[in-house]
Amino acid sequence: MYRNDEGDRFQRATGLMIQSLRSGGIYSTSLLQAFASIPRHMFVSEALRYRAYEDTSLPIGFGQTISRPSTIARMLQVCDIRSSSRVLEVGTGSGYQAALLSVLCDRVVTCERIHDLYTRARQVLFQLGLNNVQCVYNDNGGFDTVRGEYDIIVVAAVADATPPSLFELMAPGGVMVVPVHSASGQVLRRYAREESGSIVEEDIGDANFVPLVV
Ligand code: SAH
Repeated sequence: MYRNDEGDRFQRATGLMIQSLRSGGIYSTSLLQAFASIPRHMFVSEALRYRAYEDTSLPIGFGQTISRPSTIARMLQVCDIRSSSRVLEVGTGSGYQAALLSVLCDRVVTCERIHDLYTRARQVLFQLGLNNVQCVYNDNGGFDTVRGEYDIIVVAAVADATPPSLFELMAPGGVMVVPVHSASGQVLRRYAREESGSIVEEDIGDANFVPLVV
């Protein structure tokens, strides 16, 4: 897959990325282990591999980006993920976040609206043997293609307002994290559906995502 010296370099870079996540307040051991086990360089183009472990988003073509590791980590840390959680990711992009989720949960559903990205992500996930991820091509803006009930929904693209149809997919006790536009830019919003059905929301920090197309 890559030369040994390159492999060593990627491994060292992964170690540094984990350290930086830890010092940035990511304490979940299972989450840090997931970051340690997924080779982020496999999700970017050959030309950008040398930057794959920087804490930054990177272009993946079609005007889209692979998310920043620390942002993904913040999103996932507030989700209370268990292996039995039914998880939906909106915005497969490169497939990187779906790969992390596949280590944390038994089964992951992820959807993407750009066909070429959907195909490429599927290939990489297959190549890495992560066969518990179901990739769905979501060619219309709605979420009919991923109808179901989920304990965790992670939206990897920014919305003006959270689409009401996504709330309908939340199981009682479920959590959803969505970046939304705010007065100062973008903010990560966490929603929790209580057993009673009511939704509690909380902002958990800033974000920088490409738009959700609905
Ligand atoms: N999670 C990705 C980053 C995704 S970037 C990663 O780890 O690489 C956001 C992605 O959301 C883009 O690829 C964009 O095409 C996709 N997207 C935007 N609106 C969407 C929608 N309504 N349904 C599915 N995917 C959508």
